[in-house]
Amino acid sequence: MRIVVLAGGIGGARFLRGLKAAAPDADITVIGNTGDDIHLFGLKVCPDLDTVMYTLGGGINEEQGWGRTDETFQVKDELKAYGVGPDWFGLGDRDFATHIVRTQMLGAGYPLSAVTEALCERWRPGVRLLPMTDDRVETHVAVDLDGERRAVHFQEYWVRLRASVDALAVVPVGAEQSKPAPGVLEALAEADVVLFPPSNPVVSIGTILAVPGVREAIAEAGVPVVGLSPIVGGAPVRGMADKMLSAIGVETTAAAVAEHYGSGLLDGWLVDGADTAAVAEVEAAGIRCRAVPLMMTDVEATAAMAREALALAEEVRA
Ligand code: GDP
Ligand code: CA
Repeated sequence: MRIVVLAGGIGGARFLRGLKAAAPDADITVIGNTGDDIHLFGLKVCPDLDTVMYTLGGGINEEQGWGRTDETFQVKDELKAYGVGPDWFGLGDRDFATHIVRTQMLGAGYPLSAVTEALCERWRPGVRLLPMTDDRVETHVAVDLDGERRAVHFQEYWVRLRASVDALAVVPVGAEQSKPAPGVLEALAEADVVLFPPSNPVVSIGTILAVPGVREAIAEAGVPVVGLSPIVGGAPVRGMADKMLSAIGVETTAAAVAEHYGSGLLDGWLVDGADTAAVAEVEAAGIRCRAVPLMMTDVEATAAMAREALALAEEVRA
């Protein structure tokens, strides 16, 4: 079975760990969000790709959900001693090595997809990890700061400002001109099922869908497309999806997210048991819906979610 998963960072990575346990023989291709990528200290940092790679490769800081395990911060401290910032983005010493290797390879002319493949040779995530595009796409968030409207990089909004101000708009800058990375459209064309993990619907999955051709390739694949809600009981399980959804005029509910994707894209949707009341609304919108436990507390609970998603896909197919 060939499964294609559109993934952001933590939500995507944790789901993938469960999916691998639920379907050990499946051939899994991950299309990763690169809209969160940022250049820091001359280095190209790809937070979502790295979160997937480290999580599936056994190098993730489990408590945090991002960055490396057993991390130290000497390089960051040294940069700070030189007065060189930004100091709000936590790059550890081990993590720095990944960004150095990546930046060196990009500088030598390799596209991000080839660099990602090379980094995965070390981490062996057990999935094929593709960036959504080799082109530069950067998610910017419009905010009001001291009465002045400004656009900030998504990382600045989330990490520096801690999503403390309202997001007025979200723009994946460069997406319109970008092309899917090599392998992305091919993987979708050959897929037996497409899954949307409980990743951020706006700045993770929404950004991937903004790459021209991806949405069409999913629709044209003619296979079941099933998603899992990142919104439980009217709030994101973690993160700032509520702020992002407000910015695009979508309510922070499991049903509203499904309707935002729409029945043209989505065939099936899983909501948490806390949102059983949403099932009828989602089904009325033409999307098959089930309420099941959706908290990724451990690999077994997450594997059960993945099995439910695959079962719903089979139901759609039949
Ligand atoms: P990010 O790039 O690190 O923000 O990660 P993703 O976009 O892949 O996932 C973020 C989303 O995962 C957030 O909107 C959370 O609500 C959702 N999420 C995190 N943990 C869980 C969980 O245990 N269950 C569900 N249903 N959603 C979760
Ligand atoms: Ca992210």
